[in-house]
Amino acid sequence: MPFALPDIGEDEINEVVHSLRSGWLTTGIKARQFEKEFAEFIGPDVEAVAVNSATAGLHLALEAVGISQGDEVITTPYTFTATAEVIRYFGAHPVFVDIDPNTYNLDPDKLELAITPKTKAIIPVHFGGYSCEMDKIMEIARAYNLRIIEDAAHALPTHYKGKLVGSLDTDAAVFSFYATKTITTGEGGMIVTKDRNIAARCRTMRLHGINRDVFDRYTSSRPAWYYEVVAPGYKYNLTDIAASIGIHQLRKCMSFYEKRKDIARIYNEEFKNLPLILPPQPDDPDSTHSWHLYVVGMDQASTSMSRNDFVQKLFDMGIGCSVHFIPLHLHPYWSSMYNYKPEDFPVALSVYERSVSLPIYTKMSDSDIARVVDAVKAAFR
Ligand SMILES: *Cc1c(COP(=O)(O)O)cnc(C)c1O
Repeated sequence: MPFALPDIGEDEINEVVHSLRSGWLTTGIKARQFEKEFAEFIGPDVEAVAVNSATAGLHLALEAVGISQGDEVITTPYTFTATAEVIRYFGAHPVFVDIDPNTYNLDPDKLELAITPKTKAIIPVHFGGYSCEMDKIMEIARAYNLRIIEDAAHALPTHYKGKLVGSLDTDAAVFSFYATKTITTGEGGMIVTKDRNIAARCRTMRLHGINRDVFDRYTSSRPAWYYEVVAPGYKYNLTDIAASIGIHQLRKCMSFYEKRKDIARIYNEEFKNLPLILPPQPDDPDSTHSWHLYVVGMDQASTSMSRNDFVQKLFDMGIGCSVHFIPLHLHPYWSSMYNYKPEDFPVALSVYERSVSLPIYTKMSDSDIARVVDAVKAAFR
């Protein structure tokens, strides 16, 4: 059984075929429609800007808030390298803040200590689909005049205190539609912001710094051949082929969520008496977990089995699993660039050493779910 599988239906396939037959392959009416429906899904007063990956979206959002060489941007080491690499694109520096041992999210109580006169922004990552403590992070950001770009790659749909991630009062939130994420376009991403200036800058910079996109040029009243380059931008636009998939994936977002929530409920119930640390559960009644990831930890107080032995046993029983994440400060680039030692972020290190991500995706049948449950129980016998 694979660790993850996309859930693509006939609607997506027919829409892609329609795009292919239409002759309009690149960014056009379907990318527009996907943006419009995505913004409506997230809530009032937001704009959505479609891009070809969340990495591109994070890059554009940082550019739009003016990150530049020598700046510092605070984030978590417990994430995918994309979160931090985009900071380096500017010659700016990521400053890692260790995680909370219960939520695996950036620990807001350690945030203030990391702020220096060079700090410009914070990138909170909603790990696994469980929201960061945004009230505390937003309060600190206001006090120090810092920008917030949320890495919401795992957080569709995630509620924080009754509001969907994407509709909070931050500068922007960036979602991912990579093949393993909660909805997919193969590759793709979405920047969501309430700030018209950020949205406008991202729209310009995602397409070479051209002030009108290609589709506009061929449909508006200005001459079709005319455009203006206002900055050295990037090539980050989402194609209509990809948007065709996204339009239908978005419509299934809530039913996909219900399915993953069911799987998480079964896992929680079946694993509660095993020597496993279960994923964090929202304690606020108006907060929800997207269940993009279901991460268990070996409870070292009650089992001597190592994480690696556990993963091996699951593999031997045919169950694919994964580890999220190898903390960034353990990777050769980040550790040599900033002279990190493994124990510099002790919580991230110890959570990493005990953690395993189990399969949780909508294509799992009841018998697939039962197979995972049986295999996990058998691993401890
Ligand atoms: C997947 C992921 C990204 C990157 O998303 P892409 O769409 O593949 O660029 C960024 N941050 C986190 C936490 C992710 O898991």
